[in-house]
Amino acid sequence: MIFRQLFDSTSGTYSYLLASRAGGEALLVDPVLEQMPAYLQLLDELGVRLVHALDTHTHADHVTALGALRDATQCTTVMGAYSQADCVNQLLSDDETLNVDGIELRALYTPGHTNESFSYWIGGAEPAVLTGDVLLIRGTGRTDFQGGDAGASWDSITQRLFPLGDQTLVYPGHDYKGWTRSTIGEERRFNPRLAGRSREEYIDIMAALNLPDPTMMDIAVPANLACGQPPGGL
Ligand code: FE
Repeated sequence: MIFRQLFDSTSGTYSYLLASRAGGEALLVDPVLEQMPAYLQLLDELGVRLVHALDTHTHADHVTALGALRDATQCTTVMGAYSQADCVNQLLSDDETLNVDGIELRALYTPGHTNESFSYWIGGAEPAVLTGDVLLIRGTGRTDFQGGDAGASWDSITQRLFPLGDQTLVYPGHDYKGWTRSTIGEERRFNPRLAGRSREEYIDIMAALNLPDPTMMDIAVPANLACGQPPGGL
């Protein structure tokens, strides 16, 4: 399997390219608009054909490349069932599977960071989960806007993600320290917001963060509801 973790340093965003083989079909998860030239070049160099571009949730910190990729490659645009974006071709329900040339991604509804956030589980010999911004490495995604809810975040992480098993690799939607991946077991034991905490403690921790709004928020959210292509342009 081809699996590439791609990084946008401006927003600290990880995007993921998956394909089963050279010459086959490919999927891009959480692509960033500014990285379009790099994606198109990599797809070409690997000799893979993009069939789906997927966002785990409506991002507030960068503009999605979903619409631009659809226009450039005729791929379908995919999000979870509760997305408010009206430009998405395919909405996945909880536990629904997306098959890309033999690679199966199972959609897991994991609200908390936003009320429409999904994670995507990839089975096989080395199971992995793309967690979007719900579960980060030694952190969790903020829960203070876009329908975010700390209690829902706790429930998603402990009831949907932890049961995937300690060996499951965790690939987050962001990292700001340069860490690239973790495992469910590591996060269960060492994530300072989760390990040894109660649901009530977690809600208190999240309420006390007092984070500033992302600088891109007023541009990114409306743009992303139009797959990065608002009618009047960015
Ligand atoms: Fe986010």
